[in-house]
Amino acid sequence: EKIENEIVDSGERVTFDDIAGLDNAKSTVYEMVVWPMLRPEMFTGLRAVPNGLLLFGPPGTGKTLIGKAIAHESGATFFSISSSSLTSKWIGEGEKLVRTLFAVARYRSPAVVFIDEVDSMLTARKADENEASRRIKTEFLVQLDGAGNRKEGSHVLVVGATNRPQELDDAARRRFVKRLYVPLPTEKDRETLLRNLLSKNRHVLTDKEIAKLSKDTEGFSGADLKILSTDAAMGPVRQLGQSAMSVSADELPAISYKHFRRSLKSISPSV
Ligand code: ATP
Repeated sequence: EKIENEIVDSGERVTFDDIAGLDNAKSTVYEMVVWPMLRPEMFTGLRAVPNGLLLFGPPGTGKTLIGKAIAHESGATFFSISSSSLTSKWIGEGEKLVRTLFAVARYRSPAVVFIDEVDSMLTARKADENEASRRIKTEFLVQLDGAGNRKEGSHVLVVGATNRPQELDDAARRRFVKRLYVPLPTEKDRETLLRNLLSKNRHVLTDKEIAKLSKDTEGFSGADLKILSTDAAMGPVRQLGQSAMSVSADELPAISYKHFRRSLKSISPSV
């Protein structure tokens, strides 16, 4: 029941086309894990499929999206859990939950198990490590070692995401054979992201204005741009004040460059 409630088996279909930029990460992931999951018989010996992939980089840059896209494009079941919920919620039960998670993933194989904030489960800091979290960590490493075991005809890829890769200890880092840096979006990527976000509502921004915004949002992550655009999209509603409640959606003014400039005054990059 806990697995069902807490571990989201996401029905959301994310494809690699939904991810702006990150071309290097996408092509590497495709070659390293999607092809092998689609055609396991081709990927044996030196071409063996890795069990562990570590995505590291600033928050809000698309690591979770990559995990979802891997699952969708390779026809695998997607399981997602944040490691803080494993380590804090069920002290003493976390170990059992890790075991159950992998058992369910093997049953629904091929599967992708996405672990957000993986550093908090596999931290190298010994001082604040209690018995329960040490056991969770050991169980996780054991399960990770056995995850790709094809003898049972199952393949489970563990994708760990972290903003603090330096906090993983050596034993954990070694398990993630493949490690990929997921950077902040470039100016061109920010333009793509803004265009995608703007396509959801009526707006009057010109190409030049979108280009200017992309330039002026250096340091913003994809998630930050979403926050900025959501705020700017509230601009027309704020502009009308109370009377916004009595007009139809069509009568609402379109989102403009001015709305973005106003939002930019109060919203800054989170990194
Ligand atoms: P965290 O480290 O905080 O968990 P993350 O790197 O896993 O963050 P995501 O959850 O994948 O980030 O992204 C957050 C949101 O930002 C997504 O829902 C998506 O809307 C948007 N986003 C971020 N980067 C991209 C991108 N490259 N392409 C499309 N959308 C993006």
